[in-house]
Amino acid sequence: MVDPLLDELLDRCVSYHGHLCMGQPLGVRLALKGMELISTRDPRQMIVLIENDRCIADAIQIVTGTRIGRRSAKLVDLGKMAATFVHTETGLAYRVNVRRVDANATHGEDACRSILRVPDAELLSWRRVCVHLKPEELPGKPKKTVRCTLCGEKVFDGKEVQGAAGPLCRSCAEKPYYREPTMEEE
Ligand SMILES: [Zn+2]
Ligand SMILES: [Zn+2]
Repeated sequence: MVDPLLDELLDRCVSYHGHLCMGQPLGVRLALKGMELISTRDPRQMIVLIENDRCIADAIQIVTGTRIGRRSAKLVDLGKMAATFVHTETGLAYRVNVRRVDANATHGEDACRSILRVPDAELLSWRRVCVHLKPEELPGKPKKTVRCTLCGEKVFDGKEVQGAAGPLCRSCAEKPYYREPTMEEE
């Protein structure tokens, strides 16, 4: 595969991501394969579930045009070099996984760019999967908004839980990811 478009795509990823790293060419290849498998390049027709929050997550969003803020890209934080591509109209879905990650490879420009030319089957593996997305997970206006009965803050998209006295945000219902500073920390 010698496609000058691949280098152009890689350059776009690098300028968004901020540096050239293995994640960029891997993300380019993973995204192109996923779109090929579900037969669309239209970000309005796909949802991409990205399985880690590192470098490839940026490249996948740039190449597919999907965005976390548009709900067309979703982070499923499993720490894996993989993503699942769902066609929102046909439901066709494929999970694409990076097979070859040379952790010890020299991460120079040439090594990174050479990833663009590795044959699909050598670099990636893929299989058909089924993904059930709930209506409140899909793009579009929020279908549900409630107010937490404890903190009074709004909770969108059905992410609340039911408490004895009404809906609760998950920070109030469970343990928040933050805590109040102590006197010394203030
Ligand atoms: Zn990076
Ligand atoms: Zn709350």
